[in-house]
Amino acid sequence: NDRMDEHGDSRALEALQRYFGYESFRPGQAGIVNALLNGRDVLGVMPTGAGKSICYQIPATILPGISLVVSPLISLMQDQVDALNDVGIPALFVNGMQTPDQQDFALSMAANGQAKLLYVAPERLETQRFQNFASHTPISMVAVDEAHCVSQWGQDFRSSYLGIGEFIAKLPTRPAVAAFTATATERVRRDIISILGLANPSITVTGFDRPNLYFDILKLDTKNKTPWIARYVADHPNESGIVYCATRKETEALAASLNHTVPVLLGPQAETGRVAVAYHGGMSPEVREQAQRDFVNDRVPVVVATNAFGMGIDKSNVRYVIHHNMPESIEAYYQEAGRAGRDGEPSRCTLLWNESDIVTRRRLLDNDYENARLTPEEQEVVRVSKRHLLDGMVGYCRTTECLHTYMTRYFGERSAADAGVCDGGCANCGRAFETVDVTDMARAISMCVHDVQQKVGVGKIVKILRGSKSQDLAVWHPETMATYGMLGSVSEAQVRDVLNQMVADGFLCISEGRLPLVGFGVRAAETVSPQFHYEMKRVKRRVPSRAVSGQGGLDG
Ligand code: ADP
Repeated sequence: NDRMDEHGDSRALEALQRYFGYESFRPGQAGIVNALLNGRDVLGVMPTGAGKSICYQIPATILPGISLVVSPLISLMQDQVDALNDVGIPALFVNGMQTPDQQDFALSMAANGQAKLLYVAPERLETQRFQNFASHTPISMVAVDEAHCVSQWGQDFRSSYLGIGEFIAKLPTRPAVAAFTATATERVRRDIISILGLANPSITVTGFDRPNLYFDILKLDTKNKTPWIARYVADHPNESGIVYCATRKETEALAASLNHTVPVLLGPQAETGRVAVAYHGGMSPEVREQAQRDFVNDRVPVVVATNAFGMGIDKSNVRYVIHHNMPESIEAYYQEAGRAGRDGEPSRCTLLWNESDIVTRRRLLDNDYENARLTPEEQEVVRVSKRHLLDGMVGYCRTTECLHTYMTRYFGERSAADAGVCDGGCANCGRAFETVDVTDMARAISMCVHDVQQKVGVGKIVKILRGSKSQDLAVWHPETMATYGMLGSVSEAQVRDVLNQMVADGFLCISEGRLPLVGFGVRAAETVSPQFHYEMKRVKRRVPSRAVSGQGGLDG
């Protein structure tokens, strides 16, 4: 192809510069654009904000005829279409917010070649009016946004997405199809390919690494994380931050407590405005919108929120995101933490966790599953996939490797971080670990699981090993067990830590019932071998590196 140079198709680069004023494509964009220009299907896995719109908008300007963009976000269509028209790319939309007359008008304009892009909601494709249009108008490309909505195993399944594949199959000429998602799960990606009927798609994963974000994980051995957060907020008085909590109640309590403690930490000279507002789905819309406005307009520096906060909120100068609890998946964490540093300036994402978060998350997961209106078989699939997601999250908390690398690898992207170029941009790359021999502890835990015949949960195992006199152990007559009190001098947190590590390494397993019990894993037998040796990595000390100068700023 004589129009290709090392940047791909030169027409694409010209269009990028002419319409959008950008000098070059971001990594991954050019590949997608070129595949589409060559009529090939693509699956683009990229997070919001990575620049996927350009991946289909540029080809749409070059390909003959019209391109369809299927998007579930009806409220954003008007803005997207306006933005395209502003830069000189003719675009239209049809959706249910228009009157039938307006819809007809838009479709006849499109049929007359008055637009290069036509945005539609998936429900529209099934209407007779739209199918008439599609059978008479040459369509060169169909771009499907939020493509994971086709999968029942994704976060937001929409039945209207199931018709897209058939719609495409019925078109007189098969267009190139581009599907975009930010999901990492294999299962969802496979569903996208099969349900949309992508033909040998070129798969591109890109845009997940955020080099300006400093990732930190802190394991706190206390359930009360408020003092740490108050200290952090007080040490960063002029910065905007989001603190994510798991429950509505927690957001209210933490916001109140920050408003109380932070001014005290700051001392009498400091200005005493409000420090934090709560934000969650249970508040009235007026109160919630007020909280959001106060935060976005810098009238209050901190918002303490549930995951209800963030969708469609555009605040580029968020300097830190703190997670008060472990989220349910890396996807959720990435999305929430990723609201920091949209302006490209150094920002910090701190995940606070402790071992009991794992227990809480497992319990929530089982409750979820009980409420779901699915067949037992479907429930099982959902539960297994959610456990899998949670394992990924726990793995992130426990890993001693580079956090940028962990994250990008999780999403399937190879990136600079993979090549070891994190450059002190995460806690693990600035942290020294020491290896601790925990062989005896692991043996004791394994023996204890045997003593109770794999019939109790983590809490009771820990109690027996530490010699607790708790009444709820009585039925087991723990005083008759060799392991009773065997780890009496070890802290509860340490025993839990080793036990959880043994689960992660396959020596133990947690049964998947309503009351999770500790059982033996596939490698259990190794613990009784005389050669058994077990080590754990622990944080030794924190060494200064970029952005980790004590509790100080981020000006590294
Ligand atoms: P997405 O659709 O993936 O959420 P957008 O397409 O809205 O992301 O892009 C996010 C931002 O990045 C936009 O401001 C966009 O103009 C910008 N952008 C996209 N591609 C490039 C590029 N090659 N060079 C510079 N900026 C870009």
